[in-house]
Amino acid sequence: MTDLKRLVIETARRMNALGINVNKSGNISARASLDGLDGFFITPTGIDYDALEVEDIVFIALDQSVRSQIPNKRLPSSEWLMHERVYCQRADVKAIVHTHSVYATALACQELGIPAFHYMVAAAGGDRIDCAPYALFGSEELADKASDALRQRNACLLSHHGVLACGKDLSGALKLAHEVENLAHMYTLTRMLGEPKILSSEQMSNVLERFQTYGQQR
Ligand SMILES: [Zn+2]
Repeated sequence: MTDLKRLVIETARRMNALGINVNKSGNISARASLDGLDGFFITPTGIDYDALEVEDIVFIALDQSVRSQIPNKRLPSSEWLMHERVYCQRADVKAIVHTHSVYATALACQELGIPAFHYMVAAAGGDRIDCAPYALFGSEELADKASDALRQRNACLLSHHGVLACGKDLSGALKLAHEVENLAHMYTLTRMLGEPKILSSEQMSNVLERFQTYGQQR
């Protein structure tokens, strides 16, 4: 468990080192079980990533009735509800990365998702990356809207807020958050050159099909 907590800390630091987040605006979590309880580790609120120690990482149980019995040293990120809702909804998700990366957030502030202007949009698992409707940070309403947007996708934008990306491990979730920022940057530039040309649903189905076997061929 200490190793996984360490990985959570490393991922938070890498997120900032990659330039897809500044200060403590984002947060990181990884599914875990502790003393037989299913839940997840998450970065705490109010502590610089550089100063984080293993004991600062917070464990949240998915079972609400036992939550208050867990002796955490710190309070979780104010956005822990959003993570909890996704873990409850998607058994396949093992890690979640939340950032306020610049280009993706700029699109989210215009309430724009990312359509299939580039085939790599399929990296999030579908033919577009949606922008979830606005709700107050840390609220149940945001948790509902964000988890809704991740029902059939591994990443979404959050209106007037940022990005949420998930994966089967911390490295995968971080890579996807980075890819979303890269796509948002390219999409912003593409829009500046005129009305973006969008790939057809048939073209995107072909990409999605190819992605299922990509990297596994001999
Ligand atoms: Zn946030």
